Amino acid sequence: TSRFVDVELAPPVPVFALTARYREDNHPNKYNLGVGAYRTDEGLPWVLPVVRTVEQQMAADPILNHEYLPVCGLDSFCKASTKLVLGDDASAIAQNRASGVQTLSGTGALRLGAEFLKRCLGMNVMYHSKPTWGNHIGIFQDAGFTDIREYRYWDASTKGLDIKGLLEDLRAAPEDSVVILHACAHNPTGVDPNPSEWEQIMQVVKEKRLFPFFDSAYQGFASGDLDRDAFAVRMFEKADFEMMISQSFSKNFGLYNERTGNLAIVAKDPESLRRVRSQMEKIARPMWSNPPNHGCRIVATVLGNAAFFAEWKDNIRTMSSRISDMRRMLHEKLRQLKTPGNWDHITNQIGMFSFTGLGSKQVDYIINKYHVYLMNNGRINMCAITTGNAEYIASAINDAVS
Ligand code: PMP
Repeated sequence: TSRFVDVELAPPVPVFALTARYREDNHPNKYNLGVGAYRTDEGLPWVLPVVRTVEQQMAADPILNHEYLPVCGLDSFCKASTKLVLGDDASAIAQNRASGVQTLSGTGALRLGAEFLKRCLGMNVMYHSKPTWGNHIGIFQDAGFTDIREYRYWDASTKGLDIKGLLEDLRAAPEDSVVILHACAHNPTGVDPNPSEWEQIMQVVKEKRLFPFFDSAYQGFASGDLDRDAFAVRMFEKADFEMMISQSFSKNFGLYNERTGNLAIVAKDPESLRRVRSQMEKIARPMWSNPPNHGCRIVATVLGNAAFFAEWKDNIRTMSSRISDMRRMLHEKLRQLKTPGNWDHITNQIGMFSFTGLGSKQVDYIINKYHVYLMNNGRINMCAITTGNAEYIASAINDAVS
C-alpha cells in the first residue's frame, strides 16, 4: 500500500475548479466569467504590445543572460516599482526610507510581508474585508497568523460600501493588528471607498495603531490612470505611516504567469528599513532563494524609458476603457430586457470584477442552463464580456432573476 494512503484529499481551489468545469463543457455558447484575466473583444488573452516589443528586444540582446538575481531581486525593478506606487515626489523615497523587495507576484509579496510581520514583530491578528480575495486568508494562515478576522465592507442592500460597519469593526480591533486594504478596484466587489471615506479609515488605523498592508493588484487597470489608482496608498504615505504595499504586475502588464511583483516597504527612517530588508532577505532565501527575471526585466525596461512608459499607459487605457464599455453594454442590455431590480452597480463598480448580487442558486441556474460560468458568490469578470456575447449573458441573468 501507498505511504500516502492516509493523505486527505484537499478541496479544489474554487476559481480553478470552475475553469476545469468550463473546459469540460462542450456547448458552443460557453463563456468563462470566472478567472480574473483580461480578454480582448474577441474573447482572447492579450499580450500588451509594449511587452511584446520589449520581449523582442530582450531576445535579440546578446548581453542578457540567465544568471541568478540577488535574493531581493532586480534593483532597478524594485526601485521603479516602489516609485510607481508611492509617486515620484514621495518623501519616503527622497528620504531613503522606502524600498522594495522583488517577489513572486502579488501573492508572494503578501506572503513575504505576512511572514515578516509574524516572525519579526510577533503580529498575529489580521483583518480583511468581508468579502475579500480568498487567498488573503490562506496566505496569512500559512504564515502563522492564528487570528484572522473580518471587517464589514459590502452592503448587500445598497450594493455599495458599508462604511459605518467598516469603521466600527476597525475601531474594535486590537492594537498592532494587520489590516489588509485593497488599494483600488476591490476584489470581488468592485466597490472602493471615496476620498473622504479613505480619510476616515486612515484616522482609525492611526488611532488604533493598526498596521496598514495595502494590496495593489490593479494599479492603472482600474481607472486607466496610474496616479488615481494609487490615491489611497499615497494618502497614507503623506500622513507618515509605516506600511507595506504588495504590488502585482499580473493585470496591468498582463504578466500573469511570469510572477512579477514587488513588496514595497515604507519605514520611519533608513536604518529601520535596512534592518527590515535584511530580515526579508533571510525569509526569501529558504523560500524561493531568488526571484525570476523575465517579467521584472520587462517592467523595469518599460518604467525606465519615457517612450515605452507612454505606450504602456496607452495599453492600460485600452484595457480599462474596454472594461467600462462592457459595463455599459451589459447594463444597457439588462435595461432593454426590463430585468427586475436595479443594475446600476454594474456601471458604478470599478476594475476587473463586478459583484452582481446574484445568489448561488441563480449562479447554478445560469451555469447549467446557459453554460455561462461565474463564481458562486456572483462575481463576474467584466473582461470576459464581449460585444458578441453581452446579449446572451444579459439574457441568462435576466432569466435567472425573473
Ligand atoms: N490581490 C488581489 C486582490 C488579487 O485580485 C490578485 C490577483 N487575483 C492578487 C492579489 C495577486 O495575484 P498575483 O499573485 O497573480 O499577482
